[in-house]
Amino acid sequence: MDRNETTTVAVSGGGPAGIMLGLLLARAGVEVTVLEKHGDFLRDFRGDTVHPSTLETLDELGLGGQIDRIPHRKLHRLTIGSPEQPFVNGDLAKLPGRYKHIAMIPQWDFLTMLTEHAARYPGFRLRMNAKSTGLLDEGGATRGLVYEDAEGSHELRAVLTVSAEGRDSALRDAAGLTPVNLGAPIDVLWLQVSRRPDDPDGLNGRLGSGAMVVAVDRGDYWQLAYLIPKGGIEQVKADGIKVFQDRLVELLPFLDGRVTEEVHSFDRVAFLNVELNRLPTWHRAGFLAIGDAAHAMSPVGGVGINLAVQDAVATANLLAERLHDAQGHPDRFTRTLNPDLLAQVRRQRWTPTVGTQAIQRLIQTQVLERALLRGGGMAALPAPLRAVAGSRAWSSFIARSMVYGIRPEHVRSPERPVPRG
Ligand SMILES: Cc1cc2nc3c(=O)[nH]c(=O)nc-3n(C[C@H](O)[C@H](O)[C@H](O)COP(=O)(O)OP(=O)(O)OC[C@H]3O[C@@H](n4cnc5c(N)ncnc54)[C@H](O)[C@@H]3O)c2cc1C
Repeated sequence: MDRNETTTVAVSGGGPAGIMLGLLLARAGVEVTVLEKHGDFLRDFRGDTVHPSTLETLDELGLGGQIDRIPHRKLHRLTIGSPEQPFVNGDLAKLPGRYKHIAMIPQWDFLTMLTEHAARYPGFRLRMNAKSTGLLDEGGATRGLVYEDAEGSHELRAVLTVSAEGRDSALRDAAGLTPVNLGAPIDVLWLQVSRRPDDPDGLNGRLGSGAMVVAVDRGDYWQLAYLIPKGGIEQVKADGIKVFQDRLVELLPFLDGRVTEEVHSFDRVAFLNVELNRLPTWHRAGFLAIGDAAHAMSPVGGVGINLAVQDAVATANLLAERLHDAQGHPDRFTRTLNPDLLAQVRRQRWTPTVGTQAIQRLIQTQVLERALLRGGGMAALPAPLRAVAGSRAWSSFIARSMVYGIRPEHVRSPERPVPRG
C-alpha cells in the first residue's frame, strides 16, 4: 500500500447519493471522504430532473437561493406518453409544498454546487480520480476500503463504508449483496443534436409507431433519449443509420437537416441498458449501500437523482449522531457500529423505493412497451388503464408520487458550527 489514511465515513461514488451524504455528514461534524473515480462530473449519462422533494432538501440546507444562480428551465407539467397521447398529464401546480415545478438542472452543475457547499465543512474531503477497488474486511466487519489513484493503491480505514457507486457498484458485490432484478422491457439510445433558438422549449416527449423519443433541452443542444424495446439495439444497427435518422426526424421534425449532419454514424449514439432492481438487504456490518447501488431506477419519471438524495438524507438523519459519537473513540476502527442502525436505513426507505419502482414497472410494461413501442398508442392499453389514462385524478396521483416523492425525507441531522479561522 502506498498510503494509509483514516476517516469516519468512506463514501465510494460522487453522484447525487454520495455527494449529498458527504455534505450532510460533514455538516454534522463527521469526517467523511468521498471517492469519485472520474476527474469531473461532466458525463452524458447524468439526468437533469431535480424534483420538488430535492428542492425542499436544498432549502433546508440554506441552498435554495443557489439554485437560481444556475441557469435552468422549469417544467410545470409531468407528461408521460406524449402531449398528443398522454398517459399521465399532471399539473404540478396542484402539488403540496412550496415547489410546483421540476428544475431541469444539468447534474454536473448540481453536484458542483453541493461540493462547493460541502467544502465549507472541515470534515469533508473529496478525492477525484480515485477508484475504490475493494473492501477492508477484518473481524467479520468492513473497516474501510482500498482505492487507486494516479499515485498507486491506498487503504482508507473507516468506521462505516458506504457504496454510492450507482447501479454497477463493485463494492456492493464485494460485500456479497446481490440485487433482485425486476426486469425492464426498454433500452435507451442516448445522443445529442444541436439546438436552435427557435426550437420548441422544455422537455418534449414524442411517440411514433414502434418508437418514442424524449428530448431534454440543455440550452445549446438537445439531449435525446430514444427508447427501443429491450435487446433491440442489434436490429436498429442492422436497419442502418439512414432508417434511424428518418425515425428521429419523423418524431421531431424540427430537427430535420441537423440529424443527418450531426448523427452521421452510430458512433454518435450511446447505448444504455436500462435496469430496474433492488437489494433485499442494504447493509452488513460496517457497510451500507444507498442510491442506485441499492436500487437501480429506470429513467421513467426522472426520479433517480431524487431518490438517491432522499436516501442520503435518511442515512444522515439516522446515523450522523452515532457516527459523531463513534468518531471520538480511540479504538473506533476496531469497534463495529450496531448493524441494527444500518438496517433502519433500508426500513425507512423501503416504501418509497418499492412504491416508486412499482409505478415505473407499470409504466414500462403497460405503457412504454405495450402501447408505444409495439404501436397502437393508448388504444393498446388494458381496459382499466385506458379508462384512467390522461385523466386528472390519475395524473395528479402519479405526479404527486413521482415528483413530490413517496414519504419525502426532511433534514434532521444537526449542523455543527464551522470553526473560525
Ligand atoms: C438513461 C437514463 C436517464 C436518466 N435520467 C434521469 C433523470 O433525468 N432524472 C433522474 O432523477 N434520474 C435519471 N436517471 C436515473 C439516475 O441517473 C440515477 O438514479 C441517479 O443518478 C442515481 O444516483 P447515485 O448517486 O445513486 O448513482 P450515480 O449517479 O450512478 O453515481 C455513482 C457515482 O459513483 C462513481 N463510481 C462508480 N464506481 C466507483 C468506484 N469504484 N470508485 C469511485 N467512484 C465510483 C461513478 O463515477 C458515479 O459518479 C436516469 C437513468 C438513466 C439510465
